[in-house]
Amino acid sequence: CGVFGIFGHPEAANLTYLGLYALQHRGQEGAGICSSDGTKLYLEKSLGLVAEIFNEKVLKNLPGHISIGHNRYSTTGSSTIENVQPLMATYSLGSIAIAHNGNLVDIDKLKSKLEKDGAIFQTTSDSEIILHLIARAKDGEVHERIANAVRQVRGAFSLLLMNEKELIAIRDPYGIRPLSLGQLRDAYVIASETCAFDLIGATYIRDIEPGEMLIISEEGVKSLKIFNSAPKAHCVFEFIYFARPDSYIFDHICVNTVRKELGRQLARENPVEADIVIPVPDSGVPAALGYAEQSGIPFEFGLIRNHYVGRTFIEPKQSIRHFGVKIKLNPVREVLQGKRVVVIDDSIVRGTTSKKIVKMIKELGGAKEVHMRISSPPTVGPCFYGIDTPTRQELIASSHKIEEIRKYITADSLGYLSLEGLKKIIPNSEFYCMACFNCKYPIEFESKKLSQIEL
Ligand code: 5GP
Ligand code: SF4
Ligand code: MG
Repeated sequence: CGVFGIFGHPEAANLTYLGLYALQHRGQEGAGICSSDGTKLYLEKSLGLVAEIFNEKVLKNLPGHISIGHNRYSTTGSSTIENVQPLMATYSLGSIAIAHNGNLVDIDKLKSKLEKDGAIFQTTSDSEIILHLIARAKDGEVHERIANAVRQVRGAFSLLLMNEKELIAIRDPYGIRPLSLGQLRDAYVIASETCAFDLIGATYIRDIEPGEMLIISEEGVKSLKIFNSAPKAHCVFEFIYFARPDSYIFDHICVNTVRKELGRQLARENPVEADIVIPVPDSGVPAALGYAEQSGIPFEFGLIRNHYVGRTFIEPKQSIRHFGVKIKLNPVREVLQGKRVVVIDDSIVRGTTSKKIVKMIKELGGAKEVHMRISSPPTVGPCFYGIDTPTRQELIASSHKIEEIRKYITADSLGYLSLEGLKKIIPNSEFYCMACFNCKYPIEFESKKLSQIEL
């Protein structure tokens, strides 16, 4: 998901709309904006894309100088309007709204305990638990209640909360998902990725620290450390696939630079004699440029992407995927005909896309050879922290050797980046989660889910 928040701007909701637009790649199922004029919260949300949901009329319903917004991509909970965020509630201390990027683990026990205690859940989203925990706290002022609530949950959370008078940002102690602070003249802005700052002309100041709670109000900015220190575990997959290349994440690191370096490393580890290097657009582009530069093989666009279909992988409706890859990609015959082609993609999940792409490049494109190169190690473990990967059984690399995958996707050769290579390229790699590649999960969770992990 993508989150965006702003404090201290007369056009808070309009800027949140722009911020969400820049973060659209982080979730396309639904979006919402909550605003405050200092006395009351206003909320507009719907299923669909940001530009479809919000127009001048809808944005007029969102007055005030404080605002938070959310782009939804479901990991826990189905794709229904109830689950679209921000979630808003009224309780004994007033109103509160929450926007969550990440995924909580082991929520079942906590949820049934709350339900036994009388809580009525309005959504199937894991994020609602945090609201209930805040509302049901027996005592304490609002910040104490919020801190206590998030201390009771575990998992990945980059959170934005707001009440009538404040904007609050919280990042889990591991810092799994990104969350950055910026400034736009007198206003403060917070976003999942800095590409949102660029669009509105804000300056990137720093990241919200893992375990930090930042409270922004008329009194200024207050930072509290609300968790004991934990070993940092930033999601490496943000660099590989999820974040936009023009963003700086995890303490000012440029996503594009990392992605290109992954491509260079891939070329060093898996060279091949070929005529052209082509990316699977868009996610494979920076790595393909890196591979081409390192290998000296010319870069070409051999596949053209239709940009208006959205990321079919994220689309929860199964039917879309049956159109196959053709709805999204078409080969450029003029480029591919008779060539030995290196195809660069960022990852293989189920293997279905790769298989169709190889077939397309050979049959429709007329390529002589197809050499698939993947700018990440084999995806062997599902993510429980906010990326919607399928179960272990569905991950082709969890149960197949590279040669078996090569045969399945019908490529002439297949090469992945090594785990060591990945670690070499990522600065301070010991502070990263790489569980989908090495099954070392930084946040423990119950054995029931572990059955999905063990083979
Ligand atoms: P496969 O066909 O192997 O299941 O999918 C591989 C493709 O899915 C790659 O092109 C990769 O860019 C893309 N991909 C990997 N992870 C994700 C994800 O979390 N969401 C979306 N939409 N695509 C993904
Ligand atoms: Fe990121 Fe993979 Fe860890 Fe999930 S398991 S947080 S996708 S590195
Ligand atoms: Mg892709």
